[in-house]
Amino acid sequence: MATYDDSNIFAKILREEIPSFKVYEDDETFCFMDIMPRAEGHCLVIPKTPCRNMLDASPSQLAACMATVQKVSNACLRAFGADGITLQQFSEAAGGQEVFHLHFHILPRKEGDKLRPPG
Ligand code: IMP
Repeated sequence: MATYDDSNIFAKILREEIPSFKVYEDDETFCFMDIMPRAEGHCLVIPKTPCRNMLDASPSQLAACMATVQKVSNACLRAFGADGITLQQFSEAAGGQEVFHLHFHILPRKEGDKLRPPG
């Protein structure tokens, strides 16, 4: 597996070199809206420390991300009147990953809805 490259777009968001719509932040994680939402409220949770994906993440990076995923997901249920959450994580190109900084997709869902396709 390739090593982490800090020229990726999420590293640039963390360095505030490009803008993002912030949803939540703490010492270890950052959450912002996905630029091409596949559901109302589609947002992304990332660790602030370098990590390519789930495969090279440390247990503490995963734990911090999951704690934020849970907080934001519960907030999404209230904010968007969602009935449930789909959580997605793609690791490596073969797994569907396009941006190589670990991220978790939070997709608020309503009964009977369909996710919009990517792009
Ligand atoms: P993945 O790597 O396949 O999980 O896809 C990367 C995700 O990042 C896609 O859902 C994109 O819409 C999203 N994305 C790409 N660039 C930006 C950005 O600048 N801001 C917010 N989301 C982005």
